[in-house]
Amino acid sequence: MNARSPLAPTANADPDWKPIAAPTSGGSETAADSILRERGQQSVFCGLTSIIWLHRKIQDAFFLVVGSRTCAHLIQSAAGVMIFAEPRFGTAIIDDRDLAGLADANTELDRVVEELLSRRPDIRMLFLVGSCPSEVIKLDLSRAAERLSQRHSPAVRILNYSGSGIETTFTQGEDACLAALVPQLEVSEQGVELIVVGSLPDMVEDQLVESLTRMGIDRVACLPGRRANGMPVVHPNARFLLAQPFLSDTAKALVGRGLTHIPSLFPFGGEGTQAWLESAAAAFNVDTTLVENVCAPGRARATQSLSRAREALKGKRVFFFPDSQLELPLARFLHRELGMQLLEVGVPYLHRGLMAQELAALEGSGVQISEGQDLAKQLDRCRAMKPDLIVCGLGLANPLEAEGFTTKWSIELVFSPVHGFEQAADLANLFARPFDRRSRIAHDWQKGRPGL
Ligand code: SF4
Repeated sequence: MNARSPLAPTANADPDWKPIAAPTSGGSETAADSILRERGQQSVFCGLTSIIWLHRKIQDAFFLVVGSRTCAHLIQSAAGVMIFAEPRFGTAIIDDRDLAGLADANTELDRVVEELLSRRPDIRMLFLVGSCPSEVIKLDLSRAAERLSQRHSPAVRILNYSGSGIETTFTQGEDACLAALVPQLEVSEQGVELIVVGSLPDMVEDQLVESLTRMGIDRVACLPGRRANGMPVVHPNARFLLAQPFLSDTAKALVGRGLTHIPSLFPFGGEGTQAWLESAAAAFNVDTTLVENVCAPGRARATQSLSRAREALKGKRVFFFPDSQLELPLARFLHRELGMQLLEVGVPYLHRGLMAQELAALEGSGVQISEGQDLAKQLDRCRAMKPDLIVCGLGLANPLEAEGFTTKWSIELVFSPVHGFEQAADLANLFARPFDRRSRIAHDWQKGRPGL
């Protein structure tokens, strides 16, 4: 192996940049050792929310939520109602008769699927998505998917997963969806040797794959593919690299199929993207000079593009409520590349294995990491610390803004193209914009034009 260690110092880093300590295995206290664990009331969206970006990614898939009117309202209001295009998501409503056990929900579901597939011959993959109500009435969607597959395959593949809000957060919907795809992946000696895992905007995916290809890693594909018949065919010794930090069940399923995980920082910011590419390079024994040649221009552009946001954000104190599961990599980016001070970084759950390098990168930052949530206590801590910026879910943002805090909606970070060298400035600007908005509102108030 002759590629650079993913934790090694790099050229083109900004002047304040320091190398990341290797993950520690004992001895002194680390960021991971002082984690505050809480269980109590949570404020998060459910896994159905991820349908909003997944249905755009897999272009011939349909997501049929088996749920209540509440689930239907959530999806419609989050995704917007399409007037001119037929949406590729919908809800099979479980009504009072189903909940009372008076109707055969399976018969109803079969009827809805028949109607849907005969009306929409463009659908090649159908996901039956479980919800809180379908779990409450113990509707077995895996058996339903099997039964319906017998009727409709090979024209349509029918899979299932749960997007229920019981004990899950919204990005776990994507994790469950991708984990459901893993058993479907075909294995072949001619298959790809590297899978990039995580749903990314096509443009970002193309940029990352191009960088890998330029390093000579050209048998590479992404999960999910863009179409039902475009899911990767994998080599028996294939490896995988996660592009999103919330895919622990998918990673487990891939390891279960014999693939090897490549540990890395996640590709946020210049540093994360370079480390991510270097991790792939190290796994495939790519020459260090070639790695440097591929990474250096992108890293330099990223560092340069961050200068304005760094000026606006340096020294500002940030508090993360647990929501998207992106919190640790984003906190690392804000602290190490933009000079922000981390107060508390909450995560819905912590997978120490997948997060080992992110935790190592936060050592010495003085951050309090918390796992899980007891909302009232966390709000008290947040108010006492008086952060300059709070990153939180939609439900908390407006009340906190009304109290005078500046907030950032964490869900926007999942909807926006933020991975890779070229998007580093856009990612930084998502955190700088709330300050700009607040100062413009204050300015308008002074001028007697509130609300403009
Ligand atoms: S799945 Fe559960 S949390 Fe999500 S909208 Fe439906 S009822 Fe609400």
